[in-house]
Amino acid sequence: MSLLTRPRGSSACGASSGAALGPGPARLPAHVDVAVIGGGQAGLTTSWYLRQHDVEHLVLERDRVASSWLRQRWDSFCLVTPNWQCRLPGHGYAGAEPDGFMVKEEIIDYLEAFAGSFAVPLYEGVMVDTVAQDGGSGLVLSTARGEVHADQVVLAVGGYHSPRWSPLAAQLPPTVTQLHSSTYRNPSSLPDGAVLVVGTGQSGAQIAEDLQVAGRDVRLSVGSAPRVARFYRGRDCVAWLEDIGHYDLPVDEHPEGPEVARREPNHYVTGRDGGHDIDLRAHALDGLKLHGRLQQVRGETLSFSGDLRENLDHADATAERIKDTIDQWIEAQGIDAPPEPRYEPVWEPDGDGSAELDLAAAGVRSIVWATGFRSDWSWVEAPGFTRDGYPCHARGVCEVPGLYVLGLPWLYTWGSARFAGVARDAEHVAERIAELARIPEAVSGKSSTRHATRSGASTWGQ
Ligand SMILES: Cc1cc2nc3c(=O)[nH]c(=O)nc-3n(C[C@H](O)[C@H](O)[C@H](O)COP(=O)(O)OP(=O)(O)OC[C@H]3O[C@@H](n4cnc5c(N)ncnc54)[C@H](O)[C@@H]3O)c2cc1C
Repeated sequence: MSLLTRPRGSSACGASSGAALGPGPARLPAHVDVAVIGGGQAGLTTSWYLRQHDVEHLVLERDRVASSWLRQRWDSFCLVTPNWQCRLPGHGYAGAEPDGFMVKEEIIDYLEAFAGSFAVPLYEGVMVDTVAQDGGSGLVLSTARGEVHADQVVLAVGGYHSPRWSPLAAQLPPTVTQLHSSTYRNPSSLPDGAVLVVGTGQSGAQIAEDLQVAGRDVRLSVGSAPRVARFYRGRDCVAWLEDIGHYDLPVDEHPEGPEVARREPNHYVTGRDGGHDIDLRAHALDGLKLHGRLQQVRGETLSFSGDLRENLDHADATAERIKDTIDQWIEAQGIDAPPEPRYEPVWEPDGDGSAELDLAAAGVRSIVWATGFRSDWSWVEAPGFTRDGYPCHARGVCEVPGLYVLGLPWLYTWGSARFAGVARDAEHVAERIAELARIPEAVSGKSSTRHATRSGASTWGQ
């Protein structure tokens, strides 16, 4: 049996090809020291650190490297975080635009190049159906290619498992095309006519802009997500916040506590065309029609909460508070940064956003639900995991010895689910794995540290 270490950059993993998966072996090894589930940035980064510790492992990916970027992002998607924050270990962003924002294909290429940089021991096309304790001190993974017993397991399956749909979706007439933001691709893939986007987290705000830029008639149901300015006083706000140490703040020290931090919607802003604010008031001046939060569906008639003003004000206030923090930092550090006038609202709604919308009269033929994602841990049978709850862990180390989780929003810091912070978490978890692996009796009664070759092909499982 040979381990699949598919050469990176081959057509089988081409970013734009959509990619046939490598065949992989018919059966997986019956035992591995460490199984990493997920071939996204978290799984690959874990593999990189495990190699540093010479811990033998496998990465099992149900689809292909960077699959969530390829399959769950729209065509014009680009990073919201600046490229310099892409700091995977040994593979920091090295392109020409550190202050720019990679587009979808570039992000996939970046991850593929990372995977190729250390020949990750990866099996693509392997879905792990369940993970359970094996009755001893290890865990057992079930897959269509056989059971795999692992001394330790890292769940690196991201935090955005299944689309969250509003129950209101089921009440809409079948004449309206409905899709979730994760399956939205581009304006021309929607039926002609007006589009309603529901939700103003990062996806909703950017998709509404994508549609509006394409000349579509767009309505947006505005929620309570905050926003952040792109640039302030001569720099990207992300750069200021990095200097201030915001991205190093452990979740336990978050002023609102871990529970709130982990549930908070992301601040909306964009990296599109070099980066700019998403100011919904400015978009309204250009024709975007804004509503309050969607509340009720009766046939073809939608009603909204009267919270539009409040939601716009809240988003602006958050952006201004972040500027206050930056101002204080600049002053305290004696930094010479050009002053900048503060934001003045450029538009006010006529009403409170609660006016009813008759879909047929307004010509709305499609709705994009940008309502976020749910967790699904139903396939992990272990204490500390509930079906759609947040797993119980301390900096990624779970209750069950040898079980770990990575890549969740605010797992440890703001950047845990982002390129910015995943390496710090993976390094920590890999150290714990290596420690446990070095204790001979601790894991399946045997020493687990063997020598995976650094050249690429593993010497085992063959
Ligand atoms: C709209 C949007 C915008 C974003 N913008 C940014 C940004 O600007 N900057 C940034 O740094 N981050 C951004 N993120 C966050 C980032 O995309 C994700 O958090 C990131 O993909 C997390 O990486 P991951 O490796 O943890 O998870 P994923 O990339 O989701 O990888 C998990 C992998 O696990 C695989 N998998 C899942 N279940 C199984 C199983 N049972 N068996 C085998 N394989 C399995 C999946 O196929 C997938 O490939 C954004 C996210 C969204 C939704």
